[in-house]
Amino acid sequence: MTSSNVRTIGFIGAGNMPQSILGGMVKGGYPTTAIMASNPSRPKLDMLEEKYGIYTSQDNHEIAGKADVIVLSVKPQLMRDVCADLAAHVPDLDEKLIITIAAGLRFERYYEYLGNNITLVRVMPNTPSLVGEGVSGLVADDKATQADRDFVTQVFNYVGLTLWLDNEDAIDVLGAVAGSGPAYFFEFMHGLQRAAEDLGFDAEQARAMVQQTAFGAARMAMESDLSLVDLRKQVTSKGGSTAKGIEVYQNAQLSDISKRAVGAAVTRNQEMA
Ligand code: NAD
Repeated sequence: MTSSNVRTIGFIGAGNMPQSILGGMVKGGYPTTAIMASNPSRPKLDMLEEKYGIYTSQDNHEIAGKADVIVLSVKPQLMRDVCADLAAHVPDLDEKLIITIAAGLRFERYYEYLGNNITLVRVMPNTPSLVGEGVSGLVADDKATQADRDFVTQVFNYVGLTLWLDNEDAIDVLGAVAGSGPAYFFEFMHGLQRAAEDLGFDAEQARAMVQQTAFGAARMAMESDLSLVDLRKQVTSKGGSTAKGIEVYQNAQLSDISKRAVGAAVTRNQEMA
């Protein structure tokens, strides 16, 4: 990392997601002196200071004032009040890069709360960011420079894969696939676990078998150049047991079910925007 990709970054709100992001940054070698966070409760901040050696404050104005890059990481329902308060007390917001990780809220809302001259990037991380294996969808407004985009990419690469998207509608789709996706996979994995339990496995062994299989399949998919269909065919001998199992899924139109699930989640994201 060159000093040119280091900017002072301040997280407003120090809950689970910002903790994962700043934890990933520290682990990845980002200078701790360039990371700050604010939160109303002191014990959480003490923990962050102790664990990561970063600067913290209970005062949002102080952190937003000192940072070159502000990461708005409070719950969406608090965003209006938190932004209005920053707009009233931090004089040079238009000079800073603002990143928001809040679900749902569109660019328009932030311009309303913080003024039309801010530079804004919306990021939608997903929960596996907690273990450094996330997917983050990113959309920038047209004031963001290439250097801003490179900086945001660097930050979210610390907790997984980053995907730049063309517009906010794509964030709703990414949310329905990658944001909700872990729940879909857990649901499917739980079904396999139950099937193994019904056939005599204890819960612990059934879960271990299923989660390692999911992990192994994901890793094979990531490391192979083959399409997912070809990978599936590779483990499906004609007339074999896997073919029988796959036939059940195909007869139940699993692909169509996935399309319907994603469609329902996209609609809900649009309703909440
Ligand atoms: P969280 O509830 O863990 O943390 C929210 C934090 O904000 C808390 O520590 C709370 O004390 C603090 N806070 C409350 N009022 C505040 C104020 N006035 N000023 C500063 N801080 C204040 O929530 P989270 O899971 O970390 O989510 C944070 C944001 O990230 C949300 O907007 C959410 O939509 C977004 N997000 C979360 C996930 C996820 O998987 N957790 C995924 C995508 C996006």
